[in-house]
Amino acid sequence: MWASPVLALLSMTQVSAHPKHFLSDKVEHFTESVIREMTRQAMQYNAVNLAQGFPDFSAPAEIKHAAQEAIAADVNQYAITWGAKSLRGAIARQMQEWQGIEVDPEKEIVVCCGSTEAMIATLLAVCNKGDEVVVFEPFYENYGPDSILSGAKPRFVSLRPPQRAGGEWTFDEQELREAFKHQTGQHQTHHSKTKAIILNTPNNPTGKVFSRKELELIRDLCVEYNVLAITDEIYEHILYDGSEHISIARLDGMRERTITINGLSKSYSVTGWRVGWAVAPPAITNAIRKVHDFLTVGAPAPFQEAGAVALSLPASYYRELADRYRMRRDHLIPALEKAGFVCYRPRGAYYVMTDISAFGFANDVEFASYLVRDIGIACVPGSSFYKHPKDGSRQVRFAFCKKPETLDEAALRLEKVRARR
Ligand code: PLP
Repeated sequence: MWASPVLALLSMTQVSAHPKHFLSDKVEHFTESVIREMTRQAMQYNAVNLAQGFPDFSAPAEIKHAAQEAIAADVNQYAITWGAKSLRGAIARQMQEWQGIEVDPEKEIVVCCGSTEAMIATLLAVCNKGDEVVVFEPFYENYGPDSILSGAKPRFVSLRPPQRAGGEWTFDEQELREAFKHQTGQHQTHHSKTKAIILNTPNNPTGKVFSRKELELIRDLCVEYNVLAITDEIYEHILYDGSEHISIARLDGMRERTITINGLSKSYSVTGWRVGWAVAPPAITNAIRKVHDFLTVGAPAPFQEAGAVALSLPASYYRELADRYRMRRDHLIPALEKAGFVCYRPRGAYYVMTDISAFGFANDVEFASYLVRDIGIACVPGSSFYKHPKDGSRQVRFAFCKKPETLDEAALRLEKVRARR
């Protein structure tokens, strides 16, 4: 019988095939997505899924039609790596129209597979090992792993919940300044280690919409410490109570140091299409394009064509979108309050963060398990938005991007919620 000399050598030297040997150290530092795990549990217990932020209603007919037409017209091969011309043109027009920001679609846009890819491609393109990235906490759960995968260390700055009904989530100016100033390691230089700040406005999970004053403070720190702003603006059109979305790129001094990330998922209810983009000055765009090319080659071609149609919808489309979400917010919050949750009323995006102290559970995970198994509603445990689970142990998040009848069913089930004393 033929015996492999390599296997013979391996058995002699007793090299072990322990699974850890095959894994990158990086993946040790984060867990699987809790949000997607809650969606799996929602399916297992036949629960109303208010965990993951995807709509359960139809996308606009005209954009579905545009996608079908693109496929029928054989737009089925790789698009230009950094994005179909029609979509880049539409993105540039929209940024000009909504934010007054002039963008060169040939040199300053990278279309990616969702804003998820745009974020990680950006971080891979700008971060070196040992760099730090400032992130407001609670944070959209991808930002932690994204920073780690790109070799950077996230440095968290707290967003504090409102102290009174109708108040705002706030942060401490001094704490933010300290995060920018921070120097680490034995190789201390006179330079701050901070490479970038990740912003998300309107914000998931808090619903905060950063004010001009707050953005100006962030701008001043970015300029003083020569730091980039990477801003996830995927909920830009979902605003309530007269809040205004301001892109930080439009503030003086920021255009040359901002990467603006956005996508089709939330504004057009097509989270499964996987089309997003990054807008940045040419040198940074070039670097992101290189990373993007080797990560994914390109975003889905027919959905990019449909994306160009989506971005050309009239202003009334966005007004109706925000109006419908406001009605859903105002439908879910009273049902939650009646059941005993303290709700932090969102000014934007489509989530409501709540305080669950009144129910007397040991922590958020125990409460979320009870809610999905015994009540039939999936939510996201607050700890998944914090570095230290303890910081989110009194909170859970609900998504209200659902049909009115889904929210009716949730409200009905919420009547059965009981305090554990
Ligand atoms: N950014 C934020 C803040 C989100 O809440 C989400 C989805 O929930 C995403 C990005 C993902 O967007 P995309 O579908 O474009 O990858």
